[in-house]
Amino acid sequence: MKRELRPYQTRAIEMLRQSLGSGKLRPVLQAPTGFGKTRLAAAVVEGALAKKKRVIFTVQALSLVDQTVRAFWDDGIRDVGVIQGTNPMTDWSRPVQVASVQTLQRRPFPEADVVLIDECHRWFDFYPKWMRDPRWQSKPFIGLSATPWTRGLGRYFDDLIIAATTQDLISEGYLSPFRVFAPSHPDLTKVRTVAGDYDGGDLSGVMNDALLVADVVDTWRQRADNRSTFCFAVDRVHAKHLQAKFAEAGVSTGYIDAYTPTNERDEIQRQFHNGELRVVCNVGCLTTGIDWDVRCVILARPTKSEILFVQIIGRGLRMAEGKDDCLILDHSDTHLRLGFVTDIHHDVLDDGRPRARAKACDRIRLPKECPQCTFLKPPRTPKCPACGFKADAIDKTEVIDGELVEITRRKKREDTASEDEQAAFYA
Ligand SMILES: [Zn+2]
Repeated sequence: MKRELRPYQTRAIEMLRQSLGSGKLRPVLQAPTGFGKTRLAAAVVEGALAKKKRVIFTVQALSLVDQTVRAFWDDGIRDVGVIQGTNPMTDWSRPVQVASVQTLQRRPFPEADVVLIDECHRWFDFYPKWMRDPRWQSKPFIGLSATPWTRGLGRYFDDLIIAATTQDLISEGYLSPFRVFAPSHPDLTKVRTVAGDYDGGDLSGVMNDALLVADVVDTWRQRADNRSTFCFAVDRVHAKHLQAKFAEAGVSTGYIDAYTPTNERDEIQRQFHNGELRVVCNVGCLTTGIDWDVRCVILARPTKSEILFVQIIGRGLRMAEGKDDCLILDHSDTHLRLGFVTDIHHDVLDDGRPRARAKACDRIRLPKECPQCTFLKPPRTPKCPACGFKADAIDKTEVIDGELVEITRRKKREDTASEDEQAAFYA
């Protein structure tokens, strides 16, 4: 049965039509978590089919092939073939092909008139070769992503369509509001940066610290009110350490990584939803394509990547019955570095040139931490909405420069970075 399009989905389709109508051939549709991206994709596919066009829809993980076929099926798109290993749905005669990137790049593939690249922030070297192939040059490639901010993406795509932001969807009631606390402040001054993000090995050394891990568990018990929780860790050792400490504290806690077999993962999901498991510790693998009822997100994995950050927080923003908000416990200082996810905006695609990138980032005004309860307040909010504390002295600096980060004295965690070190770091 076909689902109705929501107003902003209709708007997205209209904007896409205008883009293609104006001669663009490589538009990207930015659709945040909760946008109903697959529904939108189905509408684009329907539009193409109505004009007797053939469509290839690429997905970047095996598990997403079946999920996408099922979603198309639910929208009444049944004439679907699959390009993926020895999948029994292989049938090149069908006008819609759902294809795994891994299989596509190793094989010849059927002709099509339109290509949709799902999760296009995950870039494969194969895409530009395909896009530049003489047979494909003049055919539209439409990118879809909640976070199309990959460096250099603007060299391959020529338009960015933003039909709704995360904030729009929260305001309109399609996504959950969130509250953030920043309970601990790891000292990352000695962590190296590799390929734009923190070095995993260095990060593991810092974050796997016994006091930091203990604080994750303590804070959760203090603040989370037994909410169903995803805990994002640096690596497997760190995730298992967190799991063990939660278990020690009597909190039933699961563990998932990229190697967890599907049946085991399904069982963990079942236990998570029926309340047998309160917390699931994981290593980044619960970012895309996962739709669990998460009401608290623990960020124990510092990142410089806006893409990873927004994808992680996005796991907690789905609406659910009886859910008023998502609680975010940020033990990584990521909000203090990157801002709230609702403040991260890029009006244009990154073309790889340094200047465009710096300009896009400047505009974010960082949240401020309440010195009393560690709640992260929006800039220029003198009174803490969580505990009512009013930080008079600090507001003076705020008047001088709205972008200054408030570095407050920690009541606990004297063992972590000193104020000066942190000030130097954030500067
Ligand atoms: Zn407060």
